Amino acid sequence: MLLADKLNHIRKTIPGHVSLVVISKTQSPSVILEAYRLGQKVFGENKVQELVAKFEQLPKDIEWHLVGHLQSNKTKYIAPFVHMIHSVDSLKILKAINREAEKNKRVISCLLQIHIAEEETKFGMTEQECRSLLESGDYEAMQNVSIAGLMGMATFTDDMEKVRREFRSLKVTFDSLKSDYFKEDPGFRHISMGMSDDYLTGIAEGSTMVRIGSAIFGERMKA
Ligand SMILES: *Cc1c(COP(=O)(O)O)cnc(C)c1O
Repeated sequence: MLLADKLNHIRKTIPGHVSLVVISKTQSPSVILEAYRLGQKVFGENKVQELVAKFEQLPKDIEWHLVGHLQSNKTKYIAPFVHMIHSVDSLKILKAINREAEKNKRVISCLLQIHIAEEETKFGMTEQECRSLLESGDYEAMQNVSIAGLMGMATFTDDMEKVRREFRSLKVTFDSLKSDYFKEDPGFRHISMGMSDDYLTGIAEGSTMVRIGSAIFGERMKA
C-alpha cells in the first residue's frame, strides 16, 4: 500500500477528538515530507538528536513531539522548538524543561509518563510519584511548563485484554489526578495512549492522542 493509502486508512479510523501523532523515527526526511504534503503536520520522534536534525531539515510549521526518554542535559537542544514532551518521568527532568523553556521565553507542554506495563524496562512514574511531583513546591513555582495530561505504554504483547486493562488503569489515574489537581485547568486534557498495534483499544479506553509509526511507514529497519 502507498503511504497516502495507509495514512488515509488510519485517519478514517480515528475519531475527531483524538489527535494523530505520526511517529517518524528512523524515517528519512523525504518520507516525512511526503506525509507532510498529505496534510500531516504533527510528528513525533524518540531521540533528541534525530528530532533536532529533522526539525532543521523540514518545514517549520511541523509540530514536533518528543515521545522517547529525555535526559536533562539534552533538554536545551529541543527547548527552542519542541511542541510537546510526552515522556516526563521525574521532577528533575521537569525542572530542566522549565529552565530551558524559560531561557527560550516559551511554555512547553508536557505529559507525565505513567508506568502501566508489566515490563521493568518501560520508563514512567507511579501515580503516587506523580502526586508527589504535583504537590511539590518546585512544581508550583514553575512558569514555563504546562502539564497537558498523561502518557502510557502498554506491555508489548498480543494479549489485547491485558493491554486494555493497562490502558483502563491509565484512564483511572488520569481522572483521579484531574479531579485532585487540575479541576480548574482545561489544559490538562490529554491521554496519549495507543500505537500501531493497539491504538483502537487505546481509543476505546479513552485515549485523546495516538502515536502511530509502523502502521503508516511500514516496519522499521532498526528499533
Ligand atoms: C516507536 C514509538 C511509537 C510508535 O510505534 P509503532 O508501533 O511504530 O506505531 C509510539 N510511542 C513511542 C514512545 C515510540 O517509541
